[in-house]
Amino acid sequence: MAALIKRSAGPAHADRYNLARGRGARMGYCHYWEIEQEIGQESFSPIVADVQRIILTLDDMGVRLAGPLGRGLPEMDGAHIAFNGLWDCGHAKNEEIVIPFPTVDAAGIGNSINAVRGSYYGMGTLLKHRTCDGNCSYETFRVVRALNEIDKVRHGRYSDYCKTGFRPYDLAVQCVLLIAKHHLRDRIQVWSGGSDYHWNDARLLCYVHLSYPLNQYRIDRDAGLILV
Ligand SMILES: [Zn+2]
Repeated sequence: MAALIKRSAGPAHADRYNLARGRGARMGYCHYWEIEQEIGQESFSPIVADVQRIILTLDDMGVRLAGPLGRGLPEMDGAHIAFNGLWDCGHAKNEEIVIPFPTVDAAGIGNSINAVRGSYYGMGTLLKHRTCDGNCSYETFRVVRALNEIDKVRHGRYSDYCKTGFRPYDLAVQCVLLIAKHHLRDRIQVWSGGSDYHWNDARLLCYVHLSYPLNQYRIDRDAGLILV
């Protein structure tokens, strides 16, 4: 924790981070970030452009994105990026899948029927790949260019998180966070309940389709996404 406090603006930041991380740990697999309250249009537009460049590839891989509540179209414009997995995805139901977590070597996207690998310390279901239980939506992912909710802002930044349930759209969330990190550098910090291994799919996509360096960032348990 010392490192977290050192790189932050103060204890208030660390408290917020711990709150988000603690909440995520109790309730499911989660990604967290802290971002400047307002990102200039000149910085935000390239992020949206790169997300749009990768979205068809994700769709081809089985990551069908919907609007924030799982229906309609994903929202991507000069003001924000907001999406979810698709509610009516048509995948087979699997009631075994409750509060999903990835196995240590989980990767890719696949069928729900052969995805389960046991229990996560009695708190949830271990999955060997991203999948759904018959509904590909989980929690809304949203990044806004300029946050107007001033009560959420501390020291010019705000924290947010997204529990993805290791649904297929988890891969899209990771890609957007990598894209944002690529463009914003220190203006965003990203942490994850997933290990560095769990970010390989997203890194590879950004490398192949956006020509990012393959190992530009790795996920450190405490420091989050850091330059390699
Ligand atoms: Zn589905």
